[in-house]
This record gives sequence, structure tokens and C-alpha cells, in this order.
Amino acid sequence: MFKTVLVGEGGVGKTSITLRYTENRFDDNMRMTVGANFASKKVTIGSAQMTIMLWDLGGQPRFHDVVQDYFKGTKFGIGVYDVNRIYTLERLEEWIHRLRVAAPDCDLLIVGNKIDERTGNGGISLAEGIAFASKFGADCIEVSAKTGQGINEIFESAARVLLKKYIQNTTRP
Ligand code: GDP
Ligand code: MG
Repeated sequence: MFKTVLVGEGGVGKTSITLRYTENRFDDNMRMTVGANFASKKVTIGSAQMTIMLWDLGGQPRFHDVVQDYFKGTKFGIGVYDVNRIYTLERLEEWIHRLRVAAPDCDLLIVGNKIDERTGNGGISLAEGIAFASKFGADCIEVSAKTGQGINEIFESAARVLLKKYIQNTTRP
């Protein structure tokens, strides 16, 4: 069981990414998450099976220490921004910082969502996403929870990293 947390500004699509991945559906009228969402899914990579627990924090948490408790024990962080709104990438830096304070060893993947809405100008390019991610030693991929594009890749990438770090190393001499 690997605790995986989605972080990022409200409205970037954290709950939608979770819903697309776990139930393969999309809701155009997604309600704002109140409290925290929890979901889990079994992932198979080669002959290895693992369960990824997904935590999706809703709203604007008011108390810093509550957020810290919530992030504790995270093995993998998915930092989400909206490719059409630059401030969501700027604000992601702070979310990642909070996550890393509570879970210093967690691995990270940066995800640009809503590519189905990309207009061509004014948004964030993949190159900019990659440059941002590299500051944290992370990869960046672009997805759409609406069309499903790239969503499986997020969790395959997470599973690959977790498998390598926590399973292969301990079961093989
Ligand atoms: P959260 O606050 O980060 O959990 O964001 P939500 O998952 O609640 O999504 C916020 C809004 O964006 C909702 O109206 C979703 O339907 C919409 N949304 C989420 N993902 C996508 C996407 O990939 N494309 C488009 N066009 N809209 C999306
Ligand atoms: Mg949400």
C-alpha cells in the first residue's frame, strides 16, 4: 500500500483525475471537494501487484498543521496544475514545499491537466512544465481528465517508481 497524494490549487482537476483513473468517468459539474477524498486501486506491473492509495485534499485548508498531518507518510506526490492558468503552476511550488516538509522522501511527478482546453496562447507549454518539474528532480507529463489522455501514464509512472524503490530492492538480494 503506497500513499499517493494529489496536490495543487482548487479547480485544477485533482478529483477529476482520480475519478477518471479509478472509475473511468468524468463529471463536467464536479463539486468542490470538501475535506478529503480517498480512493485506492490495484496496479500490476509485470508480475508485481501493488495498491496505490490516492488522497485528494479539498478546499482551502486553513490550518497548516492539519495539512502537515495529512501529508505525513506520503510515498508519491502528484503535483497538478492547469495548463491554461499560469498561476496554478506558480502556486504549485508552495504545495510541493508543504508536501516535502511533511514527507521529505516522497517522489514526485508534475502533471499539467486540461490539455483538451488548450487554446494555443497564454497557457503553459510542456517545455515550461518540464523546466518547473526539473527544479524538484521530477518528470512532467500533460493529461486531460476529460478525454482520459495521459491519465494511466501518471499511475504507471508512480507504480514504476514505487516498485523500484520499495519492492525490488528489498526482495532481491
Ligand atoms: P480539484 O479542485 O483540483 O479537485 O478539481 P476538480 O476535479 O473538482 O475539477 C474542477 C473543474 O474542472 C470541474 O468543473 C471539472 O469538470 C473540470 N475539469 C477537470 N479536469 C478537466 C479536464 O481535463 N478538462 C476540462 N476541460 N475540464 C476539467
Ligand atoms: Mg477536488
